[in-house]
Order: sequence, then C-alpha cells, then structure tokens
Amino acid sequence: MENIVSLCKRRGFIFPGSDIYGGMAGTWDFGPLGVMLKRNLMNTWWSYWVDGRDDMYGIDAAIIMNPKTWEASGHVDTFNDPLVECKECHGRFRADKLVEGANESISTEDFLKANPKCPTCGKQSWSEIKKFNMMFKMNVGPVDDGSSIAYLRPETAQGIFTNFKNVVDTIYPDLPFGLAQQGKAFRNEISPRDFILRDRECSQMEIEYFVHPDTWEEHFEKLSEEYHHFLIDVLGLPAEKLHDYEVPVEDRAHYSKRTIDLEFDYPNGREELMGIAYRTDFDLSNIAKNSGKSQEYRDKNTGESFVPHVIEPSIGVERLLLAVLASAYTEDEIDGKPRTVLKLSENLAPYRFCVSPLLKNKSELVEKAREVYGLLRKKYGNVTWDDSGNIGKRYRKQDEIGTPHCVVIDFDTLEDGTVTIRDRDTAEQKRVKVEEL
Ligand SMILES: [Zn+2]
Repeated sequence: MENIVSLCKRRGFIFPGSDIYGGMAGTWDFGPLGVMLKRNLMNTWWSYWVDGRDDMYGIDAAIIMNPKTWEASGHVDTFNDPLVECKECHGRFRADKLVEGANESISTEDFLKANPKCPTCGKQSWSEIKKFNMMFKMNVGPVDDGSSIAYLRPETAQGIFTNFKNVVDTIYPDLPFGLAQQGKAFRNEISPRDFILRDRECSQMEIEYFVHPDTWEEHFEKLSEEYHHFLIDVLGLPAEKLHDYEVPVEDRAHYSKRTIDLEFDYPNGREELMGIAYRTDFDLSNIAKNSGKSQEYRDKNTGESFVPHVIEPSIGVERLLLAVLASAYTEDEIDGKPRTVLKLSENLAPYRFCVSPLLKNKSELVEKAREVYGLLRKKYGNVTWDDSGNIGKRYRKQDEIGTPHCVVIDFDTLEDGTVTIRDRDTAEQKRVKVEEL
C-alpha cells in the first residue's frame, strides 16, 4: 500500500487534500493523471450500465436536499457509529474498531468487558459508547438556527428515490427499470484511514433498480452476476481477489432484507468494495408517508398498482479506483533491472499512447513525431508527448503511469515510414508502419 500511495503522489495521481496547509483528514485531491483514470473509470461504468442498456436511465440530483429526506430515509435516527472516548488522553475512536470481531451495534457493556487498550496512550479507561451521527450538518441561507439545518448527502440514493415519480410521470418507463447516478457523498467518519478507502468525501456510482415485489430474487441474482462480469471482464479485476459476503441480518443496513458485500483483497487486507442490497419498498413507502404523495406504479398491461421494490448495486469510485490500482501495480525486472509498472487496461489507462522523437534536438525527427502524435490524438484522444531525458527514462515513466504503448520516431521513420512501438507489459518492441498504429 505504501508503494502505491507513493507512486500516486510522485506521478500526480492523488495528493493529500489541502496538503499545503497541513492537510485535511479524510480528503484527497486527484491530480492530472488521477482525474483521467477516475474519469475513464466513471465513463466506462456509465457507458456499460446506462448507455449500454435499454432499462437504465441517468439522473443527477442536488447534493443538498430537504432535510425531511433524511428523516424519511432513517439516516437522522440510525446513520450512527459507536463513539468512545479515552478518559486519559481524550482520544475518540470507533468502539467496534477496537474490539476484535465487533460490529457497529456493540454495547457499552460488551465494550467495557473487552476493555481494549487506547491506541494513542495505551491506557484502559473508557467513556460509555455514544451514538455519533455521520452526516455533515450545515446551515442553509443566512439564518443560523434550527430551521436552517441541512445535511450534505450521505448517499446519492435518496436523490434517485425522491425523483422516482418525476421520472415515471415524464418518460413512462416499463418495469423493471433502473435509475443510475454518479456523484459525491459525504460521511463524517470518526477515523478516516487506509488512503482513499475510508475518506470523508467520496464519489458514488449507484443504481436503484425498480422491480415488481414478486420478482426481486430473480433480479437480485441477475444484477449480482452482471456486476461480477463488469468488475472482472470489463475492468480487469482479478476474480480470485473478489469475494461475496452474504451480510448477516444483524449487520445489514436498517432498510435491507438481503445484502451481498463484494469484498476485495486490498494490499492492507480484505475490505468491502461494493454492496448489492435488496431495499424492499422501504424508501418509496417512507417517502409516500412523509410527503403524502403516492409512490405507486401502475402496470400498463395488467392495470395492477403497487409500490415497486428495489435492488441497489452501490459502489464507491475511490474504492474501485484503489482496487484497480492495486491490481495493476506490478514490480518486475526488465533486462535485469527492477521496474514499477501499472498494468492498467487500455480503456482505463490515463494515456493510451506516448509519442517521442528519438532525439529532441533533430528538427526533422521532432516534426515527424509531431505529425504522428497529431494522427494518434485524433484517433484515440488520450495520447501524450514526451521528449524529456533519454528513451530509457521515458519508458520507465510511461510504465509507471500505465501507458500501454510507446511510439518512437527515429531516422528510419523518415526513410521508410515505420516507427518503433513498445509494449508496456512485455517491453517488446517492433517496427510497424504509421498507418498500422
Ligand atoms: Zn488514550
């Protein structure tokens, strides 16, 4: 993990948030390379799940929503982590993270029985467990009293549920159908950790898939299968590092009747990558209750009216990005020399090609290389130019940022129109005609 974090910083993928002022815990900034990787990931997701299907539609809801949203969704009452304070050093921690095998519902009694050592000072003197709500609270407008309180959304899902009726009444989709959204969500984690795995501000990609209540099991299976295919075959995550975890009832979110967590073997250990949850009609029914507006769907063919049930595949972009980076990160040897290489798939790599003149002080080489660069750029878009240092150094840099192909223009190019193309993973080079690139 340390090597990945270091590469991310060194090559301009990810920087600690507000680094210049000493940082801001749980936030990260994406640099030029990181934002390209992140966008490629998000675009690949969107084209697969939305553009590539007839039963999915997109949505982009506001981050700040009417606070009634979070009462109806249960977040005001139940979106809590168990907080304990060390009486000696006043350090605050998540109780369940200090006790082996504990989960978020750990009681004060069980915690004090286990009586763990304080990770900061080593003492064993603890407060009672308090419930700590993880939503970021804020005031909207110039008034600073109870009436102006709002929250930064802790999940994107509610922006979908609250628009269910708008979508049904405007585009008349046939059930089953899904609404997909990408966007930021915020969680006031007690102790953000593990690089971008547990941060306070993250991007989610969520789908709410609306089905007839009798068919939820079938659609749950289908979406789960499809998501495995997406992660393994489209994004290139190794199947052996993915594990399905059937979440037991006591650990499931308050709204869910069945949840599978897809866990991934990260460098620091196995962690949740995403969840697929059967949310029943919990959200739509609560919205109906709290808004007084029916959320029923009327089947055009049978005439039956009902509140649809929902299957929700939900994934965090940063978690996925870290899984992609960890899978791609490789240390090997080329000609007896150690190197670091990011074996990213073609559709995710920030740059697909790097184009170089063999020598940067030969104008005829530079001119020809510029021409090839222009051609590739027109065809592929994400192509980079590098004429710094010697060829060996350029290759090393492109390996580290995951560029699959390096193209070099030399004196032979001027004679016969062929270039050297080098493969990132094998370091093999061959000569091809420019038109064949
Ligand atoms: Zn302490």
